[in-house]
Amino acid sequence: MDKAQQKISILGAGLVGSLLSISLAKKGYDVTIFERRPDMRKAGAIGGRSINLALSNRGLKALENVGLKDKIQESCIPMPGRMIHDLKGNLDFQPYGKEGEFINSVSRGGLNWLLMNEAEAVGVQIMFDHRCIDVDFDTATAVFDNGKSIEADFLFGGDGAFSALRNAMQKTDRFNFSQEYISAGYKELTMPPAPDGDFAIDPNALHIWPRGEYMLIALPNLDKSFTCTLFFPFEGETSFASIKTEADVEAFFNDKFKDAVPLIPNLKTEYFENPTSSLITVRCSPWVKGKTALIGDAAHAIVPFYGQGMNSGFEDCYVFDQLLEKYGEISDALLNEYQELRIPDGNAIADLALYNFIEMRDKVADEKFVLQKKIEKK
Ligand code: FAD
Repeated sequence: MDKAQQKISILGAGLVGSLLSISLAKKGYDVTIFERRPDMRKAGAIGGRSINLALSNRGLKALENVGLKDKIQESCIPMPGRMIHDLKGNLDFQPYGKEGEFINSVSRGGLNWLLMNEAEAVGVQIMFDHRCIDVDFDTATAVFDNGKSIEADFLFGGDGAFSALRNAMQKTDRFNFSQEYISAGYKELTMPPAPDGDFAIDPNALHIWPRGEYMLIALPNLDKSFTCTLFFPFEGETSFASIKTEADVEAFFNDKFKDAVPLIPNLKTEYFENPTSSLITVRCSPWVKGKTALIGDAAHAIVPFYGQGMNSGFEDCYVFDQLLEKYGEISDALLNEYQELRIPDGNAIADLALYNFIEMRDKVADEKFVLQKKIEKK
């Protein structure tokens, strides 16, 4: 069948579903995305989880593959290293790589917005307010909560960590699945621009206040603010549970993150108004069943400490695109190779992300560890 007559459904217009739709539409497929939420571009709202993300070369390579690297890099802030803030407010800049290497801070909403616009520009149709509740694997049919059932030639689940496609797969024989919440959650706080309108701290770094069992980080935004994220245990002596009043917040931050306190003027209000969110690792296999396949967080949700969740989801899209070049069509051989290549990588990045929590909150402040890293780089 001609590709233009082959209908592809994608669940989820998130970062990965939108990028996948662009690469498939560019290959000539007739692509429709079904998104649970309303169109964030019309609401003017960005919503969702973290406000900004670290975009690395892995993700940029996938964006380059669909011709979007330069456009997206225009709205990125390079972060060539991490800036460690110790308890006394001393700073230590630790480069991530060699001279000229960096990761990028990018707005989640801005990136998603751009990818949806680009998808529509290459002919992808996005159906909002379509929440998938079930899938038939043999007919690539998605069933929605508005009563509609839509059949396609192939269906991808790009519908995130709590995927409806994966949920349907879980009810089938020999499907392996595990999920694990870590003991820490996170809360976002805002560091606005300084009174002179400039960034309050160095914008060309990912800032970390490592404090052992917990940490604060900050990534720069284009409007010269920073989004700070407190990663903190849910329970325990020093935890979300132990901080109950504004006075507790003030005392805790003054004790542990003193240099950040004057830079987060709405700390006490935001601490209680902003949500506390949990962090999950999801592993599963297989990723393919009948005429359906999982991609992005739906296949491999990981904790954010390596900054690689979106990047590895983008890499899924890149690998799928390369396999389409190799096989010419979505075939059993292609799908087998896709999951054989990607499942081990998904598991590896999940492990690295869990390990990096310990490195970020703890070891980056350890002199012996820092010295070792410097030696390794030489
Ligand atoms: P999602 O972004 O979750 O998108 C899924 C889409 O599917 C959503 O639009 C949702 O509304 C829709 N949907 C869900 N269910 C249904 C349904 N039943 N029917 C239809 N539509 C549905 N990654 C990085 O690479 N770098 C970082 O710095 C980074 N920082 C992070 C910080 C935090 C605090 C967190 C929580 C994550 C971070 N990540 C980071 C991970 C990154 O956010 C995810 O890996 C990425 O969003 C995955 O994209 P996705 O499109 O697969 O899933």
